[in-house]
Amino acid sequence: MKNKKEMRTWLDDLNLDHPLVIAGPCSAETEEQVLKIAHELKNTDVSYFRAGIWKPRTRPGMFEGVGALGLQWLQKVKAETGMKTCTEVANAAHVKLAVEHDVDLLWIGARSTVSPFIMQELADALAGTDKIVLVKNPVNPDLALWLGGIERLHNAGIKNLGAIHRGFSTYEKTKYRNIPEWQLAIEFQNRFPDLPLINDPSHITGNRDMVFDVCQTALDLNFDGLMVETHYDPDNAWSDAAQQITPKALVQMMIDLKIRKESD
Ligand code: PEP
Ligand code: MN
Repeated sequence: MKNKKEMRTWLDDLNLDHPLVIAGPCSAETEEQVLKIAHELKNTDVSYFRAGIWKPRTRPGMFEGVGALGLQWLQKVKAETGMKTCTEVANAAHVKLAVEHDVDLLWIGARSTVSPFIMQELADALAGTDKIVLVKNPVNPDLALWLGGIERLHNAGIKNLGAIHRGFSTYEKTKYRNIPEWQLAIEFQNRFPDLPLINDPSHITGNRDMVFDVCQTALDLNFDGLMVETHYDPDNAWSDAAQQITPKALVQMMIDLKIRKESD
């Protein structure tokens, strides 16, 4: 994977001496849950606190997120911990609300990236904001859809862009929840070498025991950062219970991971 980026981006402006870390629960569940996790992540390598408030569940009847109420909890996270915040947006109404509540970074989920209509709606809604926008790969291993989503945002004048590699659906039974198909992430990076590329080991593995190894592979491939689902009581999380790790485990993982320096 290409090493040197030629353009300065929002990521360089953070002046980190380690890969970017985004962490927090899959879903915001209650105000207490959000704030407890945020306080446990404060003063660690985590720059951005994540929590999904509008949850794209594959089947109906599952917890679909707390909705706009969670935006107030994210505001409290920022005020109490100093961490920046991020959440998933999937339509223009989400964008409007997230911008009004000062969410710093918005990500676009894998089920949205597959739809050019949704991507265009999001690009139009985000135009004129200075938000950082990260585009997850589509659920299916189609590089063009991923590139096309980025291009729609770029064409709308959105400058602070990046991508998240969260693996791809497959009918085959594999050890992964979503197979990484690392070559697709490498190809993506070749096409957009200046764009920060973040790895999401949580949705790739679906299993907390495999998160470390996927993070290490991503760092060995010079990914710019990691988005790791983190919960103080993973087994009782309201979504994605099997893949979340505790804040304590995240801190230990950041110590144990081998991080390549540009000079290596
Ligand atoms: C998430 O980040 O919680 C999520 C729903 O991710 P994805 O879009 O990758 O499935
Ligand atoms: Mn999740």
